[in-house]
Amino acid sequence: MTEGDNFEGNFCSTCLLIRPVRSKHCRYCDKCVRRFDHHCIWINKCIGSENHRLFISYLILLQVSAFVVITGCILYINDFCGGISFHNLACQPWVSYTLIMSINLFFWLSLLSFMQFYGIAQGLTANERINAHRYKHLNSGTFARNIFSQGCFQIYTIFL
Ligand SMILES: [Zn+2]
Ligand SMILES: [Zn+2]
Repeated sequence: MTEGDNFEGNFCSTCLLIRPVRSKHCRYCDKCVRRFDHHCIWINKCIGSENHRLFISYLILLQVSAFVVITGCILYINDFCGGISFHNLACQPWVSYTLIMSINLFFWLSLLSFMQFYGIAQGLTANERINAHRYKHLNSGTFARNIFSQGCFQIYTIFL
C-alpha cells in the first residue's frame, strides 16, 4: 500500500514508521531524520533537530579558525618577507599556500553560514527551502511560508 502510487501518507516504507512533519528519509544514512536540514558530505552526517545548533556552532568556530590562520599568515609574511605584496608571496610558498587555502575556506564557510542564518530568519530548513513545492504545508500563496515559524526575531532561540 505504501509503495503504491496513490498513497499520499507520510509513512516511511524503509524505516516502517510514520514520519513526523518536517522529517525526511536520508538516502545516505538510510534513516529518517527529524526536522531534516541537509546531509552534510563534509562530516558525513545528517543535520537535523538534534544537531543543528552544534552544526552552526561548528561552522562559526571553523570560520574563526580560518580567520586566525589568515591573520597569522599575513603577519608572518609581513614580518619575515618585508611587507605584504604580491611579489612577497613567493618568499614563503607554504605560508602563501596556507593563506590562499584559508581565504578560500573562509569564503565558502561564510556562504554556508549565511545560508544557514537566512534559513533561520525564514524559519525554513535547507531541505524545505529547496523542495518547498513538494510540501503542501509550506505552500500558502506565492512564497513558501513556514506555519511553524515564530518570526525572524526569534532567531536567538537557536542558542537556547
Ligand atoms: Zn525512513
Ligand atoms: Zn544523512
